[in-house]
Amino acid sequence: MGKNLCAICGRPAWGAKAEREWWSPESWKRDLVRGPFCIYHHPDHEAKKEEFWRILAENLDVWAHESPFGITNGFLDTTLKDFSNFVFPEGRGFPGASFQIGYFLGAIFNGDADFSGARFAGPAEFRGAEFRGGANFLGTSLGLGVFREARFGGDVDFREARMGAADFVWARFCGPASFAGVEFLGSAKFVLASFKSTACFAGASFSGEAEFIGSFFYDLADFTEASFGAKGDFRMANFYKRSLFVRARFSAEAGFFGTSFRKLADFSGSTLLGEADFSLAKFSRSAIFQGAEFRQKPDFTLTKFGRNPVFPAEKG
Ligand SMILES: [Zn+2]
Repeated sequence: MGKNLCAICGRPAWGAKAEREWWSPESWKRDLVRGPFCIYHHPDHEAKKEEFWRILAENLDVWAHESPFGITNGFLDTTLKDFSNFVFPEGRGFPGASFQIGYFLGAIFNGDADFSGARFAGPAEFRGAEFRGGANFLGTSLGLGVFREARFGGDVDFREARMGAADFVWARFCGPASFAGVEFLGSAKFVLASFKSTACFAGASFSGEAEFIGSFFYDLADFTEASFGAKGDFRMANFYKRSLFVRARFSAEAGFFGTSFRKLADFSGSTLLGEADFSLAKFSRSAIFQGAEFRQKPDFTLTKFGRNPVFPAEKG
């Protein structure tokens, strides 16, 4: 036999030849790749289901102490530390696992991806990954979270997670996504991300810049009691349904230049300490600023209001 080796990693091939998408390290984008694949990279979820998790477990280093499925000694271990482009069938997941670095670029999760309570000491790289089921990052800690161009097919749960810098640029969320109570310790980039279902950032705290520039919120966007320690940048964002910024706190600039609010926009009780730029924003329905506190005079230059906005009474 000539070479019957995985077209992606060179491990021995498993199963029949196939075609699949992967995150190409050459073109640095999603591409098609054909060939034989090893059990980790083979796209036949169903056939390999049980064998996959057994072999994966055997090849992981499990002498980490504090986690049930720990992968901690990335530097010593010569087995598995790069999960990029792996095709994960339904099954076990990584709850409570501990990673030094998590490379999951272009990985495909056929079932629910369970990373609840996992810890990534360094970067967690999920660039271009595809989550076909739910994505569970409940309480996960990520030194750096890169989900750029990731696709989320099901429910996304990042509640109470802690993240260093977060990159969700061009990420697509098809199901409800909750980032409630997340601590974003660095910059949080959601530029051009799209949320087909509800997006919940209630109680989230952003220590660095929060960038939602040009993002699409097709359903409820809930930023109730979110706190923005640096600039909250929603320039040119599109809110198709209700947007709630009730009791949100903007400690620095609040950027809503050209933002489109198609339904109710509720800023009741919010606090805006820095510049608040609503110039060229468009409120198609009600805009409520009742009880909002503007430390500086907000900029409403050429702002369009579909109905009379509700502002706090002027103090004499
Ligand atoms: Zn392979």
